[in-house]
This record gives sequence, C-alpha cells and structure tokens, in this order.
Amino acid sequence: MYKYETHMHTFPVSGCAKVSAEEALDFYAKAGYDGVFLTNHFPDGFSNNESVEEQTKALEFYFSDYEKAKAKGKEIGLKVFLGIETSLGGTDFLVYGLSKEWFMSHREFDRMKMSEKLLFLRENGAYIVQAHPFREAGYIDHLRLFPRHVDAVEVINACRTDFENQMAQIYAENYALPCFAGSDNHTGKERPTLAGMCAKRPIADEADFIRAMRAGELEMFTADNRKE
Ligand SMILES: [Zn+2]
Ligand SMILES: [Zn+2]
Repeated sequence: MYKYETHMHTFPVSGCAKVSAEEALDFYAKAGYDGVFLTNHFPDGFSNNESVEEQTKALEFYFSDYEKAKAKGKEIGLKVFLGIETSLGGTDFLVYGLSKEWFMSHREFDRMKMSEKLLFLRENGAYIVQAHPFREAGYIDHLRLFPRHVDAVEVINACRTDFENQMAQIYAENYALPCFAGSDNHTGKERPTLAGMCAKRPIADEADFIRAMRAGELEMFTADNRKE
C-alpha cells in the first residue's frame, strides 16, 4: 500500500507547529510514506492588509514552507503535495487541488463568507474536507457543520478523542459523505499516533489524489508511532 499524510503543519508558517518542513519530511520518508500534503493554516484575512505588496508578502511567506518541502522531497524521494487549512472560528477545512498560482491570483475568496468560499473553491476544482468537525475546545464557541459544502469529512483525526471521531463518523455516514483520515501532525516524528489515506497504486499528484478519492480508491489507515 502507498501511504499519504493528508493533514500536517510545519514551522514557521504554522506558528503552532513544532517542526520544520525538512524535519517533518525526513520523518515521513523514514516511515515509508509515498507522499505528504502540507496543510498549513492559511492566513485567512490576509486581504485586510492595506497594500497589495503586504498581501503578496503574506502569501509568499505562507507558501515558503511548501516550497522548502517540495525541494526537500525531491532530494529524498518523497512526494510533496499542496493543501491549505482555512478556518472560521475553529471550524476548519482542508482544501486540496489548487496551486500556489491559483491562490495568488484569486484573492477575492478571502473576503467571502465561509459557505460562499467553499462553493467558490469547489467551482474552481478544489476537493474540500471538513477537518475534525466535532472538535471541542475552549476557544471554539460552537460547532458548525457544512454538510452541503464539502466533499468529505475527516472522521479519523489522530489528535482528536475517540468520541469526537465517532461523532464525525456518524455525521459522515448519515449525510453519505466520504470518510477521510489525517494526523493533523504539528510535531513530526514526535506525533504518537498517525492517520492518513492509502492506495494500492502510487498517487501522481493532487489531481490524481482527488480522482482517486472520487473513485473510492483510497482507504483510511492509522498507525502507532510510540516507541516502546
Ligand atoms: Zn495548528
Ligand atoms: Zn490542522
């Protein structure tokens, strides 16, 4: 099976991450993965910056970890794919299939309300997964569900509790939404448990991954990364 990490963060682009893109990639290569998606927290609200130059700077910084990862991936033979994680008050969405160039030239989506944004991204070819829809935390005022605006639901998030994941599973099943798994890895090799998607054949790129998701070719997997 070919294994893919679908949900991971790297420092400094994700301030909450504790691992650089290069270190994270070394870990996944050693763990036998065929590829990883970098899904750093997107700078939502970047278009509030006054000048176009500041907006460009914010976006260039955002994609800098992805570019570092891409170069490192080539060097060590690990595929690096682009995703983003966009957020509305703790309700998070993983967006796959759009390029850096697309984001640089479609800044208008930043000002849309979430339901319109999701629609717009999908119309432009994105595949969207609602991440950990039942995550509860002090900074999350309330849960929000978007069953008509996403392509799949993350029902196994390696950082969430069994209860939160089970609720996500019930939700996905009842809305007939495909199930998705990811680690939400912020710490590279230190992450005790892992989750992701795997395939019987190698995935070539983001578009191929989306095709495989739509065709039901990908399966969820989990792995224990704790040392004895
Ligand atoms: Zn984070
Ligand atoms: Zn995340």
